Amino acid sequence: MNLQGKIAVVTGGSRGIGRAISLRLAAMGAVVYINYVSRPDAAEETRRLIETSGGTARIIAFDVADGGQIQEAFKRIVSEAGRVDILVNNAGITRDGLLARMKESEWDQVLSTNLKGAFLCAKAVSKTMMKQRWGRIVNITSVIGFVGNAGQVNYAAAKAGLVGITKAMARELASRNITVNSVAPGYIQTEMTDALPEEARRQLLQEIPLASLGTPEDVAGAVAYLVSEDGRYLTGQTLHVNGGMFMQ
Ligand code: NDP
Repeated sequence: MNLQGKIAVVTGGSRGIGRAISLRLAAMGAVVYINYVSRPDAAEETRRLIETSGGTARIIAFDVADGGQIQEAFKRIVSEAGRVDILVNNAGITRDGLLARMKESEWDQVLSTNLKGAFLCAKAVSKTMMKQRWGRIVNITSVIGFVGNAGQVNYAAAKAGLVGITKAMARELASRNITVNSVAPGYIQTEMTDALPEEARRQLLQEIPLASLGTPEDVAGAVAYLVSEDGRYLTGQTLHVNGGMFMQ
């Protein structure tokens, strides 16, 4: 699983699952560009964690919902690093609410960040990867894109959409030795799930055959496999990292 000499960009790489992915890719030898949008402190902390364990990382601010900022950012990365080998589209937000009450702006924000963001970043790296004749794109979707969830029509639509664009991009880019896959986490122990009341947590665990929440490192492990040489023959696929709560 050697990524020595590879350049990786992890959107939303500063916190939560994205941080674990950044740490993992750096531990495998990649130079990691950690993207964030609002919390430079968290991005700086992730960079520090990587560098104190002997890895190399840079932080880069851009909003994945903004095509102009993405163009600028990837231009800067390519001029600095000379290439981009790995893109992990991980940045994501939620704006939950029941259908009848969900605002159009909440739909737009979630679709723009979680779905359009992945399209724009993949578009921005595609020419470079095609020239290199090597690339790995991984989209972080969610079990919610497969099973749905009350109060999350916007999020479910974006995450199901990611599965569709993964397959379309995989078909388009395969001839240039670029693979495109998704990872669909189930319930992962993060700040979000830490806040769950005890009863909700107990009920949730009953739905999970492995009877525990996943960790950000579980998700990072699946990403590591997909971007490594061991994953070279998978494209257009989704790896489900959910303790068995949904089986395809
Ligand atoms: P967090 O809320 O902990 O972190 C979100 C990250 O995305 C932060 O780094 C944040 O940067 C960044 N971000 C948010 N909006 C933007 C934007 N517009 N442009 C650039 N970066 C942005 O999320 P999680 O770690 O929980 O989730 C990561 C991914 O995994 C998401 O796509 C989520 O949908 C998915 N997922 C999570 C699950 C879970 O249980 N946690 C389950 C299934 C899927 P900043 O801090 O600067 O704002």
